[in-house]
Amino acid sequence: MIITGCGHFYQKIKQLGSGSFGSVYLVKDLNTQYEFACKIISKHLINIYNASQMIQSEIAIHSSCNHKNIVKLYSYWEDQNNIYILLEYCSKGHLINPKTQFTEDEIFQIFHQILSGVDYLHQNNIIHRDLKFENVLIHEDGTLKLCDFGWAIKVQQLPVENVMCGTTEYMPPEVVSKQVLDFKVDSWSLGVILYELLHGSFPFIGHDQQELVQNITMNQLIISRRSDISEDLINLIQALLIKNPELRPSVQQIYLCKWVKRCMKTHNLFNHYENEQLKLKIKQKNIALKVVQDVKYLTPNIKIKNSQEDIDVKLINSVNTIQSQSTNTSPKPNKYVDKFFSFIELFKNF
Ligand code: ATP
Ligand code: MG
Repeated sequence: MIITGCGHFYQKIKQLGSGSFGSVYLVKDLNTQYEFACKIISKHLINIYNASQMIQSEIAIHSSCNHKNIVKLYSYWEDQNNIYILLEYCSKGHLINPKTQFTEDEIFQIFHQILSGVDYLHQNNIIHRDLKFENVLIHEDGTLKLCDFGWAIKVQQLPVENVMCGTTEYMPPEVVSKQVLDFKVDSWSLGVILYELLHGSFPFIGHDQQELVQNITMNQLIISRRSDISEDLINLIQALLIKNPELRPSVQQIYLCKWVKRCMKTHNLFNHYENEQLKLKIKQKNIALKVVQDVKYLTPNIKIKNSQEDIDVKLINSVNTIQSQSTNTSPKPNKYVDKFFSFIELFKNF
């Protein structure tokens, strides 16, 4: 069967998957011989479920994305019966659990690619809201790519009004209990994905929807230990599956957790957030060093070694010294003492 769209002719080759409003097919451009995936959405079903706004939003959000860990949307068109979305073809299907368990290193190699896609989305104010194995596709070259923006939203203002969306097993408590939501919805789903990669099962299950919802909102998370898995990975999963979204790590915080930092170093991957954090630390310490030097110049009797390493301790000691000096000699502490205190405040955060 031939599909026509935007002046091209595509031959339908086989069905790749199916979803709520239609199916996805492998198609070949008869002119260029390039292969694509084509999502064909039935207008009849859109009308029945009153989903036209949802499909419009899916296309608008997905076509605005350009990242190596997100499936490319090349074009879209419609005819009388269907809407067609032409996508980059991922020949190796979606993520599934292997028969033997993933090793910790394999878990990282999968996770960091999903994380990179989600980071791109969040930086562009997009919440995916349906992160799950089936929506992580594997390209011919092995790259993982996020797909299915049916539930994605572009955030104009936080928090977002809630609708029950996504797939219950991957939904956080604030979604199943119909509270307002924000970017942390995706953090929870990342936690479920990590748990699944580790154990091959969901962290919360139920015999029916009601029991599942109750377990997600009420049950304590139990992670059975695997001797080959580090404590740092377990800590990250536990943090991502914290029920209170305010306490759950954001994507930026995930990049700054021990496990991700360590694994990224091992794989020689550039960690933008760690780099920014380091730059900030160095900047603050350099400024602090300058202040120490200024004070040294003004009060030469204070002995301060100009070592970056010892600077925190030296700062605290010198503040104490200067504080006692300034209160002894003058009722108003000089401006350097104020500066010192503001830097001490900054250092407390590290
Ligand atoms: P649902 O709402 O049920 O999640 P959906 O209608 O939104 O599904 P998708 O999730 O986009 O549809 O696609 C359904 C399935 O089709 C995917 O899980 C995958 O197996 C396959 N598929 C989708 N896009 C591609 C692609 N670009 N390359 C290869 N396979 C694909
Ligand atoms: Mg899907």
